[in-house]
Amino acid sequence: MAQSVCILGVTGSIGQSTLKILDQHPDKYSIYAVSAFSRLEALSEICKQYQPKVVVVPATKVDELNQIFKQKNIQNIEILTDEAGLIAVSEHPNVDVVMAAIVGAAGLLPTLAAVKAGKRVLLANKEALVMSGDLMMQAARDSKALLLPVDSEHNAIFQCLPQNYLQIETHQEPQLGVLKILLTASGGPFLKHSAEQLKHVTPTQACKHPNWSMGRKISVDSATLMNKGLELIEACYLFSIKEHFVTVVVHPQSIIHSMVQYVDGSTLAQMGNPDMCTPIAHALAWPERIHTHVSPLDLFVNHSLDFQAPDTDRFPALKLARQSMQSGGLAPAILNAANEIAVDAFLNEKIGFMDIPQVVEFTLDHLENSSADSLDLILEVDIQARDIASKRIMQLSK
Ligand code: NAD
Ligand code: MG
Repeated sequence: MAQSVCILGVTGSIGQSTLKILDQHPDKYSIYAVSAFSRLEALSEICKQYQPKVVVVPATKVDELNQIFKQKNIQNIEILTDEAGLIAVSEHPNVDVVMAAIVGAAGLLPTLAAVKAGKRVLLANKEALVMSGDLMMQAARDSKALLLPVDSEHNAIFQCLPQNYLQIETHQEPQLGVLKILLTASGGPFLKHSAEQLKHVTPTQACKHPNWSMGRKISVDSATLMNKGLELIEACYLFSIKEHFVTVVVHPQSIIHSMVQYVDGSTLAQMGNPDMCTPIAHALAWPERIHTHVSPLDLFVNHSLDFQAPDTDRFPALKLARQSMQSGGLAPAILNAANEIAVDAFLNEKIGFMDIPQVVEFTLDHLENSSADSLDLILEVDIQARDIASKRIMQLSK
């Protein structure tokens, strides 16, 4: 029988790639629900084509969506709203698979709801795991949810780890002969920029990634290397290892998507053309494999693979993220919240590119860390961090 899929963030870059895969496998998957925050025109086209049972939008957009549905004669789709609607579809008994592809903290509660309901959860929304870390991993163990990484690096690591590595109970040291994880980074669009040049880059330049086409927030994160910092934290939680077992390796071609080293001297790498459809298809079908349109690597074309260490002086965000993971507790949630606010301010041209890590560092310095024992604590610190970051941005943009 076809698996029933809910796509949170269907209008985004990951949402669109997910639809591409589902298009190729109509016998295997059907769509139960989709969500979007804006771009109602695009959402309505998706609804027309896929006829989901439910669509989730902000309450403020319902009238507009109803109007568009009427114009296009789209019928029999229930409209739910806001966070409650997102949670309702994520945990709905008719849903087997949840693609968590909302960007940022807005995805936390729906993703957690899907995990608690024991779904197969395809995790693109790394911010949700960075914020809730151990809490989400414990929820997955309790409910027996399959939390599968869609982030290309983590999907690669998952493919290179021994089978069933995710099912191992919490541990801090690598297990089963694993020595360390090599997390690859493209280095982003400004890999070769000097510190002086970095001060003057624009949002448009930051959003032009050399290898990947992505949403604006993650594009800026890739440019500051905060994306790699968030991914470092994501890897520590997903594979339950301490941060010093994860080494970041800059690999500008994005052909190797990450590696795992073993105690016997082996290094396993997962390679492929940079297209998110591959990790999405892998997470959808695991442990099986399904076809995608992504062409296999032609090593005679992509023949050179370069590697270098990241420069954390020019890209301090990576250092801040590693320190946050070392501190543990609420620090990753603080880092994430401040970064979301700073990236938004940069995209709206209120602050410069190098102010982003500055705002994050300021926020981390001005909030007391404690253990992240409950969701309430995490949500509370998220609000506090956003407040401090916003105030810092006001000072900087004066
Ligand atoms: P995007 O900006 O293209 O899409 C985001 C989606 O989330 C859209 O559908 C949007 O409507 C929805 N959304 C935005 N704000 C929302 C809110 N407040 N409430 C509810 N929905 C909201 O982003 P993307 O590039 O598709 O990335 C999505 C997630 O996947 C991010 O967490 C990102 O880090 C992660 N990711 C993306 C890529 C990639 O290649 N794009 C790769 C790895 C991981
Ligand atoms: Mg990634």
